[in-house]
Amino acid sequence: MILNIIYAFLTVSVLGTLFGFGLAFASKKLAIKKDERVLAVEDALPSANCGACGFAGCAAYADAIVNAAADITLCAPGGATTQVAIAEIMGLEATGGDSVKMVARVHCFGNDETSKKDFSYDGILDCNAAAILFQGDKSCKYGCLALGSCITVCPVDAITKGEDGRINVDKEVCIGCEKCVTVCPTGVMKMIPYDADYFIACNSNDKGAAVKRACTVGCIGCKICERKFPEAGYTVKNFLSEIDYTIEPEGRDKAAEACPTSCIRIAD
Ligand code: SF4
Ligand code: SF4
Repeated sequence: MILNIIYAFLTVSVLGTLFGFGLAFASKKLAIKKDERVLAVEDALPSANCGACGFAGCAAYADAIVNAAADITLCAPGGATTQVAIAEIMGLEATGGDSVKMVARVHCFGNDETSKKDFSYDGILDCNAAAILFQGDKSCKYGCLALGSCITVCPVDAITKGEDGRINVDKEVCIGCEKCVTVCPTGVMKMIPYDADYFIACNSNDKGAAVKRACTVGCIGCKICERKFPEAGYTVKNFLSEIDYTIEPEGRDKAAEACPTSCIRIAD
């Protein structure tokens, strides 16, 4: 009886070892070698695996560049440096793309103290769920709902909610993947250059009187920034000021001081 058990044990062990060697040998012999260029392109990508390029991750994008001639300009976190590196590996001409590093920023400064609500929302803590009901609880339908859908999707934890109820992006952590921009139901999350000095902390296209009724820190489209500081790069369109970051500004800080609702804020 004991001998039978020993024989069975030895047989299973020997067979297991033989199969193990067999599998190891087969995996080496039959392995499909990854194209060296795929590995090189993967190395050139920032390993963020954020999916901003539209592929499942950096490895999938690298594979698509080499094997399916995917556009090499799709990696927002990598920016121009990555494009140049990939172009070199692929023997392509680097277009340079957008060489300005962009980061996300919530274009709204309204919180419970400054902004009115039409009703009390008591549903799922998700901005898109909240927006289904009358476009959210705020009187302003353009503002941040502050339920943090952007926080959930950010792959690098760059977004937090402050004690004042405002949503903040740490520009040192943001990799510019724009996932937060995509998920935000009100369009209040927008990209600005990393080096931006100021930004418009409002997203409302309502007329000034309506903005004033809903919020004390919104842009009322008064055009003081545009008219009084013509060299500073402000333009008011649809009752909302915009900043042209491509010009060398003069007096942007003075316009911020002159803004009656302080919606031109420092982009620190
Ligand atoms: S803050 Fe937005 S753009 Fe920046 S890394 Fe997070 S999800 Fe991407
Ligand atoms: S920025 Fe958009 S997604 Fe983020 S909390 Fe505000 S409304 Fe929600």
